[in-house]
Amino acid sequence: MSGIVFYNTRSRSKEPFEPIEPGHVRIYSCGPTVYAPQHLGNLRPYLFADILKRTLLESDYRVTHVINITDVGHLTDDADAGEDKMEKAAAKTGRQAAEIAAEYTEQWLEDRRRLGCLEPEVLCKATEHIEEQIALGLRLEEKGFTYRTSDGIYYDVSRFSAYADFAGLALSAQSDGGRIEEVAEKRNPADFAIWKFAAEGVKRQQEWDSPWGRGFPGWHLECSAMSSKYLGEHFDIHTGGIDHVPVHHTNEIAQSEGAFARTPWVNYWLHNEFIDFKGQKMSKSKGSVLLLQDLVDAGYEPMAYRYWFLQAHYRQQQSFTDDAIAAAAKGYRRLVAHAAELRAVPGPGDPERQAPLRARFRAAMHDDLNAPQAMAVAWEVARSGELPDPDKRDLLLHFDRILALGLASAAPEAAAESDPRIDALVLEREAARKGRDFATADRIRDELAAEGVVITDTPEGPTWKRE
Ligand code: AMP
Ligand code: ZN
Repeated sequence: MSGIVFYNTRSRSKEPFEPIEPGHVRIYSCGPTVYAPQHLGNLRPYLFADILKRTLLESDYRVTHVINITDVGHLTDDADAGEDKMEKAAAKTGRQAAEIAAEYTEQWLEDRRRLGCLEPEVLCKATEHIEEQIALGLRLEEKGFTYRTSDGIYYDVSRFSAYADFAGLALSAQSDGGRIEEVAEKRNPADFAIWKFAAEGVKRQQEWDSPWGRGFPGWHLECSAMSSKYLGEHFDIHTGGIDHVPVHHTNEIAQSEGAFARTPWVNYWLHNEFIDFKGQKMSKSKGSVLLLQDLVDAGYEPMAYRYWFLQAHYRQQQSFTDDAIAAAAKGYRRLVAHAAELRAVPGPGDPERQAPLRARFRAAMHDDLNAPQAMAVAWEVARSGELPDPDKRDLLLHFDRILALGLASAAPEAAAESDPRIDALVLEREAARKGRDFATADRIRDELAAEGVVITDTPEGPTWKRE
């Protein structure tokens, strides 16, 4: 037995974890829709998948982690109504959808790196798997799960008797003004698109030929098609945000269990709760979002965000506030300061003395990834007045293989900030001072002070920092 327990959305309970293939865990995580930058809320699913993967790796499993990039087919309503998010962004900006997708994919990858997330074994794009999606659509058609409307090929949810089970849906409630929009010609309100036809006379940037006609795949199809390509038709863990339970994941299950005739298709479903901001879910559509770069621009290190994330369980809602991130940044810096001091300590630790603390840290992570509890163990070690320094050092570095806060390498002091605009103004002030133009030098100093930037003159030249 692995000793690991996960809360499985499918059973609504904690279950002991066992992979299908001994020693090897296959994970699929629903990835970003790359029509806009990913905000701090969107990053939670990947931080959570990262501590999941690291916990499994620390238990000596080999892990194959697949993340997809949604670059076509995700409509403004998850249940296949409205416009394609990518095409809409392209029309609004006058840019190519592919160019927008490339830009935001790169930004998201960069944010993941800055947050210490391990690279997935496979990163797959929907637009590069059109053939696989069509093949899966054909399999569903052969088995009688689909029907044709003037708008596309739809999945008939009444043909999959377990449709409502995963999310505990009350299907009758959905037709009474629930979140799934009524589309003319649909047999059931919850029916969803496998393939959408390109509208008559409208040239989409992203459209392909298919046996049904020219068009594009429905959003849900890509996850069933790509997960089965890379992980097989039965795999261990599927992750995503909690909002995916009633529509996206319910539809993925209907497609995959329908086509592959395998129940359950995925053994463990893990979902993260939302990050709230100003009293509601942080969301692009609600307009109240912050990016990781916004935190960096405000003077925070990206790792302060990872530290903040680790302070709550992934299944708890977490409220993002200025005070909370400021406190996390301080906590992170204090922990790094402890680690940096300990890194210099010579001599071996005593594995026997460390064993109970290692076991408590592991037990916390094995209990459905209880990161806050694991962090408490890390702090107990850092603060301990009893543990010898070499043991503290070994333990913190060992814990950091999962926490991934950079405790083995982060500089004891936060790196000096860099901002080319401020650097240039500081240099301009210095030149003015040297030219004895004190009026200009003072004006620049005052302008920077007004935005909270303080210049200090040192024998090596001026430095600056944000207050
Ligand atoms: P999207 O790019 O909109 O498809 O979202 C990417 C992922 O972020 C999905 O798994 C969503 O469930 C998740 N997500 C979106 N908003 C939040 C939030 N405020 N807190 C946590 N996860 C979120
Ligand atoms: Zn998905």
